[in-house]
Amino acid sequence: MSRSAHPAGPRHADVLPEGHYTAPADDLNALDPKVWAHTVGRDADGVVTVGGIAVTQLAEEYGTPAYILDETDFRDRARAWRTAFGTDADVFYAGKAFLSRAVVRWLDEEGLNLDVCSGGELATALSAGMPAERIAFHGNNKSPEEIERAVRAGVGRIVLDSFQEIVRVAHTAESLGKRQPVQIRVTVGVEAHTHEFIATAHEDQKFGIPLADGQAAEAVRRALQLDGLDVIGIHSHIGSQIFDMSGFEVAAHRVVGLLKDVRDEHGVELAEIDLGGGLGIAYTSDDDPREPHEIAKALSEIVTRECEGARLRTPRISVEPGRAIVGPTAFTLYEVGTVKPLEGLRTYVSVDGGMSDNIRTALYDAEYSVALASRTSDAEPMLVRVVGKHCESGDIVVKDAFLPGDLAPGDLIAVPATGAYCRSMASNYNHAMRPPVVAVRDGAARVIVRRETEEDLLRLDVG
Ligand SMILES: *Cc1c(COP(=O)(O)O)cnc(C)c1O
Repeated sequence: MSRSAHPAGPRHADVLPEGHYTAPADDLNALDPKVWAHTVGRDADGVVTVGGIAVTQLAEEYGTPAYILDETDFRDRARAWRTAFGTDADVFYAGKAFLSRAVVRWLDEEGLNLDVCSGGELATALSAGMPAERIAFHGNNKSPEEIERAVRAGVGRIVLDSFQEIVRVAHTAESLGKRQPVQIRVTVGVEAHTHEFIATAHEDQKFGIPLADGQAAEAVRRALQLDGLDVIGIHSHIGSQIFDMSGFEVAAHRVVGLLKDVRDEHGVELAEIDLGGGLGIAYTSDDDPREPHEIAKALSEIVTRECEGARLRTPRISVEPGRAIVGPTAFTLYEVGTVKPLEGLRTYVSVDGGMSDNIRTALYDAEYSVALASRTSDAEPMLVRVVGKHCESGDIVVKDAFLPGDLAPGDLIAVPATGAYCRSMASNYNHAMRPPVVAVRDGAARVIVRRETEEDLLRLDVG
């Protein structure tokens, strides 16, 4: 990121305000393929299209704001992960990034497995027909009901996150006459190079059992003694929006160290190692994510090398990308309501959504890009902050970006890379109605999650 020395357009003084932004692209109408879904482009009139459909038509039919998801792109990315990891490894899509029944069916068809971390996500997965043995159940405080439901359904693995849970799951499985395959989630003491709130494997955090002080070894010791549990492996998830593979290297080294200790103490070679998700995507042109095949190669080399060093059979690897599959597949389409230039500062562009459909900017200081979508423009770039309509000054969608200086109410703008953690974290703040997810493919659009209505809101208000 660099401060721009470029002129900021007619509405601004020559000196740009403090901020964390890149220079405006040479052509504001260009759509960087790094941050947009595969089938996104512009038609002859300059209107952004996806899957062959113009956003003006989508806005007319489905309203704004709306999440527009490129199904072809989703399937391409899911398949790329599946193919990259081959038959010796498993890819679990992290459902918390975005889950709907259509998505579950696409994953099933593309041969991916699925991570869920609540009873609601499990219900969605099962109701769309995902075979239970391809589902992994996560969470640091699964309720007794959730555990029972998962064990009864026969999920392929439950990832155990605490000493209490080891006993709870064992007890539930035994009382149902079952032996539940489990992995034990450990914290390896690696801090991924991301924002503090999304880095999860350093030890001072709520997830996992620390390797330090022999706690994880003790967890394995206890779990191996329980008849209700089939301990199949060790799980580690080091963070989110990671670009640098060195964190995985340290994690794999430490997890393999535990596998070796387990072998030495119990004579058992655990069969699986799960390295979690957290692979980064491009939110802006400054981000350079790795391709799935590069990641697969790197991870498999790391694990193989570590296991050879420890004289262990190489375990089956699994990974859990969420954002890296669904993130780039969708953009949020908004209509501009007001344009408010603040002389010498920036221009505030208010849209018809905001933190209720994208909390990531407020929560993590996330960066996004934005484009004028309903037309092209040759006007000078102006520095904007895209804000929502909520009663909160932190209600920011895109903190610092450039849009054409002639932007006006009624224009449609699109924020790319909102497929992950936007709809799934959406709220009803200010009694906003959560936007629909519209899937587009080969010239056809269909709603896969419909827009909420006032009736939906009032249905819950039974007073
Ligand atoms: C959140 C999470 C993931 C997915 O993270 P992404 O950044 O979306 O890839 C995978 N595994 C676990 C255990 C998680 O908590």
